[in-house]
Amino acid sequence: MIKLPTFDDVASASERIKGHVHKTPVMTSRTVDEAFGGQVFFKCENLQRMGAFKFRGGYNALSRLGPEQRKAGVVAYSSGNHAQAVALAAQILGIPATIVMPQDAPAGKVAATQGYGGKVVTYDRYTEDREQIGRDLAQRHGLTLIPPYDHPDVLCGQGTAAKELFEEVGPLDALFVPLGGGGLLSGCALATRAMSPNCRLYGAEPEAGNDGQRSLRSGRIVHIDTPKTIADGAQTQHLGEVTFPIIRRDVDDILTASDAELVECMMFMATRMKLIVEPTGCLGFAAARQMTHALQGKRVGVLLSGGNIDMARFAQLVHHRGS
Ligand SMILES: *Cc1c(COP(=O)(O)O)cnc(C)c1O
Repeated sequence: MIKLPTFDDVASASERIKGHVHKTPVMTSRTVDEAFGGQVFFKCENLQRMGAFKFRGGYNALSRLGPEQRKAGVVAYSSGNHAQAVALAAQILGIPATIVMPQDAPAGKVAATQGYGGKVVTYDRYTEDREQIGRDLAQRHGLTLIPPYDHPDVLCGQGTAAKELFEEVGPLDALFVPLGGGGLLSGCALATRAMSPNCRLYGAEPEAGNDGQRSLRSGRIVHIDTPKTIADGAQTQHLGEVTFPIIRRDVDDILTASDAELVECMMFMATRMKLIVEPTGCLGFAAARQMTHALQGKRVGVLLSGGNIDMARFAQLVHHRGS
């Protein structure tokens, strides 16, 4: 049996990361409130350091390492934001970091990771197993592997985003959270059940990769091939051994959003709210928009999980919408 982390661990994480991680703003929009017939609060992790909530978990996990582990260094595998999070946290804490990234990761994410001092090793995401590569590097060089989601310190760090949201706006009727491997959702679940127990909690994942939805409904972790979607932060193949039991216990449902819906949301966020949100970051909002009827008169939280997207890519997605 795995010992699952609790809200106390999220609270400790929030003490640990204080002063290093931004307390991101919560934004509202009259247009959205009118469309929903309720109140919607956007937690803007696209404005977090390095551009996504992943800095929370990365910094929390790295700051818990002992002197020997810090000296030897860390390794992480990631399609982008976790890589940057670990690289930046490592740089701040003076720890060497090796990052395993897919060859086709967005150029901006690779450059940013290197910019934070991370040493980048690439692999083919459709044929090679990044977890294996990460484990091999860890063994050969004595590095500590920092997984992107399936780790108590990582998910508890991520959960501090929801903790801050509830501290700022009070209890909510519903909260929508993007879902890849479930670090963010499980961490937010711990905060939600402690701080707003009656809040309905929804995960939102890409339509092309609905393994989380199938896992929740079947009660077993479903594995899928790497999904093809513009939501590159949620191209995970399965939930984790630590994240799934928490999600199964604490999450009400998992919804999906199409790439076209994500582009609509990106455009809305940029035009109406002046916010740059990456496709994965829009999953929660896209899911909430599918439920406006059920959310009439409710207080709703939407977690915008990240904002890292090349401007050329943003323009291309917006330009080609619907075609
Ligand atoms: C990693 C990531 C996610 C998914 O987080 P998990 O903890 O893997 O579920 C969502 N949005 C963004 C922007 C991400 O970088």
